[in-house]
Amino acid sequence: MSIKTIITEPNKILRQISQPVEKVGKEEKILMDDMLETMYAANGIGLAAIQIGVPKRIIVMDIDWNKGKKDPLYFVNPVIKLRDKDKSIYEEGCLSVPNQFAEIERPKNCEVEYLNYYGEKKLLKAEGLLATCIQHEMDHLEGILFIDYLSKLKKSMIIKKLIKSKPDRIVV
Ligand code: ZN
Repeated sequence: MSIKTIITEPNKILRQISQPVEKVGKEEKILMDDMLETMYAANGIGLAAIQIGVPKRIIVMDIDWNKGKKDPLYFVNPVIKLRDKDKSIYEEGCLSVPNQFAEIERPKNCEVEYLNYYGEKKLLKAEGLLATCIQHEMDHLEGILFIDYLSKLKKSMIIKKLIKSKPDRIVV
């Protein structure tokens, strides 16, 4: 396993639409292992493959690991089958939008169909933080970031801050 560099906004790669995986093979398992290690190292609870520059429809998640017990979830080719009409609001952050947070409203519950680490088809009924996290990560597969839900002004303020905080680029 190895820790990868997480791509941060603004970066066009984050806007790519990720492609479905044909099968969960050795390459995908290595990718998922790397993604999980990268996510833990960055203190996150979810990561999509595109955030480390791989445009595949793969997500890793572990929403409670900072409470002590690691219990990772792996989603390959996830599809949301059902979305609740009820909404909930969480303050969201993103490893690709460092140190920025905003309250985002999303459907409270959702059902997601996916392949797990072993390529088995699964259906998960998610609620609360898990449902929000799944929807946030699935947005990444479509090139969408949580800041896209904010007003133009708020979004541009965040992007300005991100540009300022990025280290100077060296051009050779
Ligand atoms: Zn994110």
